[in-house]
Amino acid sequence: MRLLLLGGTSEARELAAELVDAGIDVTSSLAGRVARPRLPVGKVRIGGFGGVPGLRAALADYDVVVDATHPFAQAMTANAAAACTDVPLLRLARPGWEPDPSWHYVDSHSDAASTAASLGGRPFLTVGRQELASFVPTLGALPVLARVVDVPDLELPPAWELLTSRGPYDLADELSLMREHGTDVLVTKDSGGSYTWPKMVAAAELGVAVVVVRRPPGPAGVRTVHDVAEALAYVQAWVRALS
Ligand code: NAP
Repeated sequence: MRLLLLGGTSEARELAAELVDAGIDVTSSLAGRVARPRLPVGKVRIGGFGGVPGLRAALADYDVVVDATHPFAQAMTANAAAACTDVPLLRLARPGWEPDPSWHYVDSHSDAASTAASLGGRPFLTVGRQELASFVPTLGALPVLARVVDVPDLELPPAWELLTSRGPYDLADELSLMREHGTDVLVTKDSGGSYTWPKMVAAAELGVAVVVVRRPPGPAGVRTVHDVAEALAYVQAWVRALS
């Protein structure tokens, strides 16, 4: 059984390792967005497929697909759902964070910008480089701290400070970063998981307001599991069914 694993997340790397250990023929797919990606074990292909038609053509080489892309990788997830009409598809998406009553939930990054502006004057943006453009019109004049993995193509306002780094982060570092920058509002996606959770704890300890961008809806009609163990069990059931 040849399995295509759409990745770019820590869960996808964990699942790839489990599948390789179990002797399953897995190829991980990465978008190629970051300069030095953390590579999973096993076979890897890098780069877009060319939309639904490209993915459909690529599926000739695979028997099953697991979509373990990030909860906010909406285009890839929609393409997988559209292309996998004749190939079984499983979605692995970590759960969102347990909502805290003090958090301000919004539906889009532009809403996050206006909400952040109403809550503070020294925002800390942790939404990824692709989303920064949505914040420039509203927060352009403020001393924003923007943390990203790779430098964005976008020219940032002079008042902004860019911090390039990659998680996981620990609580002590998050506390000192927010103290040092006088952060009074944190903006994040509802990424879920533990990799970036310490910033939420730090914000709570420091009384920093938190703006959370709600997740896009998951793919309709696609079987979805929430952790690596569940995904592995599901794949093993496929192996049994196909052998
Ligand atoms: P996206 O908007 O859903 O995808 C845009 C396009 O990138 C897709 O249409 C596809 O191009 C290509 N692509 C995305 N993921 C791919 C994959 N795993 N393998 C091959 N091509 C892929 O995705 P995104 O939000 O830019 O995220 C890109 C990658 O970064 C994803 O793999 C995701 O897991 C990871 N990531 C995203 C976030 C986030 O917040 N969005 C956070 C952490 C990690 P074609 O149409 O040409 O096939």
